[in-house]
Amino acid sequence: MNERKSQFRQSQPSKLGLLFVVQKHQGRNLHYDFRLEVNGVLKSWALPKGPSVDPAVKRLAVAVEDHPVEYADFEGVISAGQYGAGPVMIWDHGTYSPEDSDDVSESLETGELKFALHGQKLRGSWVLVRIRSNNWLLIKHRDAYASKEDITKLEPRSVVSGRLLSEIAADEGDDAQIKAARRRTGGGRTTE
Ligand code: MN
Repeated sequence: MNERKSQFRQSQPSKLGLLFVVQKHQGRNLHYDFRLEVNGVLKSWALPKGPSVDPAVKRLAVAVEDHPVEYADFEGVISAGQYGAGPVMIWDHGTYSPEDSDDVSESLETGELKFALHGQKLRGSWVLVRIRSNNWLLIKHRDAYASKEDITKLEPRSVVSGRLLSEIAADEGDDAQIKAARRRTGGGRTTE
């Protein structure tokens, strides 16, 4: 999905579709990394509670460092000792289209970006609004894809492998993560 030429991406973003990905990540704390492709990088926000498809629910989205576009394909385990150590799941992905402007960078600089998501779980119209410094809110607009249901609970599995985060850790984790997974399923020592 990264075969398109970058000049086409930048000149006609809404026609070809820019990437978005939501990676569920058990780092020190569980969170969802919401990433939008902008000018050849993934602009990124960490959502402590994940996205909500309920327009009445505003979810905190903390702006974090850009990631390379290729990182959108990463699902697996970040090794112990590295920053963000723990399992990462591709919880949703697809393309997005800016709704109010073709200049996503400019919209982000002004602190408000309206966009449509074309994912497997997240669809329809959304807005990211900056409230102060690195703190933004991710809010679902009212449309046919809005719902009161908790999509993070309803759809806990990877869109690429069908696995839960614990299964990714067990499949691909280093020794510490494998031992922790066994302990949780009762195969290890009786004491923590
Ligand atoms: Mn993360």
